[in-house]
Formats: sequence, C-alpha cells, structure tokens
Amino acid sequence: MKLLEERIRRDGNVKPGNVLKVDSFLNHQMDVELYNEMGKEFRRLFPSEKINKILTIEASGIGIACIAAQYFHVPVVFAKKSQSINLDGEQYSTRIESFTHKRVYDVIVSKKYLQKGDRVLIIDDFLANGCAVAGLIDLIESAGAEIEGVGIAVEKGFQEGGRLLRGKGIRVESLAIVESMDDKTGEIVFRESCE
Ligand code: 5GP
Repeated sequence: MKLLEERIRRDGNVKPGNVLKVDSFLNHQMDVELYNEMGKEFRRLFPSEKINKILTIEASGIGIACIAAQYFHVPVVFAKKSQSINLDGEQYSTRIESFTHKRVYDVIVSKKYLQKGDRVLIIDDFLANGCAVAGLIDLIESAGAEIEGVGIAVEKGFQEGGRLLRGKGIRVESLAIVESMDDKTGEIVFRESCE
C-alpha cells in the first residue's frame, strides 16, 4: 500500500536491532485517517463474508483492528497481556515472546469471546518473527475456531514470521513489506507490491 510505504519512508526511523520506529503515526500517536485507508485495504484484501470476528493483541494492534472492523461490521477481540493466569477455566491462554521488549508475556482471551464456529481474521501492527501471531493462532485453535487470515500493517520481510505462516498455508496480507533497512543510513527498501 503506497500510502503506508510513503509514510514509513517519511516518518519512520530505523533503530539498531532491526526495530522500525513508527511512533509518530502508528504506535504512539495515531493517524486515524491513515488507519481508515488501511482498514479499507484490509477489507479489499479479505473480502470473505464468513469473517465474523477480528482478533488482535494489546496494545498497538487495537486501534488498527477497530478502524478496520468498521469495514467488516464485526466485533474486535483483543488478547490481553496478563500478569497471572487465572486457572478458573474461563479463558484460553498462551505465551508470547515480545520482539521489542524481549520478554515473555502470558496472554489470555475469555472463552466467552472466542468460540467454536468463529471465523477469525487476525490483525496486528507488525510481523517480525511471528511470535505474536503464532500465539493468537494458538488461542484460536484452543477455542476450536477457524483462521480466515492474517492482516498486518508492516511486515519485516527479512525476519522469518511471514515465511513461517505462509508455509503453513495461512493467508497473510501485509500492507507494507520491508525488504531491508539500515540503521546507519536510515534507508528502507520495500518489497514490490502488485497494487
Ligand atoms: P513478532 O512476534 O512477529 O516477532 O513481533 C511482532 C510484535 O512485536 C508486534 O506486535 C509489534 O508490537 C512488535 N514489533 C516487532 N517488530 C517491531 C518493529 O520493528 N517496530 C515496532 N514498533 N514494533 C515491532
């Protein structure tokens, strides 16, 4: 999606450790008009009428998922990062290693909001090694629900998440795929899209 690529080029900052900072429009301050265009694009890429739920993870995925959901007319459920797993059987839980914070989180979703028969579109801000999405898939599978696809704002194509997920036959659509980035020069190269 050209609009997002241009914005990343203009306002994104490449940090050491393969981190792309997009705090001024995506991860801290949020450009809602840009989110709106992203939401429309996710709908175009996932036209299935079967999708009845969007699943994301707190915090950065929530805004993107909510704006997109207006084009799908479905609710958004976000997996919560939890200090303690409550073992009352009311929730599904999994563990996710955070790429940016380098720690492992317990993540939960209530059994009330993810159920067998649900057809779920996962939406998140970044795809790097794929741990966050793998955790969300684990929650969906625990519930006996089905994965319709994965919509990502920014995929770092030089990390393995996208390849692993697509290799499992999961449909992954990323609005911008960074092929390479250099924290010394600030240069960002995108994978050619077929827009
Ligand atoms: P993964 O689990 O795929 O390794 O990483 C995805 C998660 O880590 C995303 O939910 C996102 O919050 C965070 N993340 C990964 N790489 C980046 C990055 O380069 N920049 C930012 N801002 N967040 C990232």
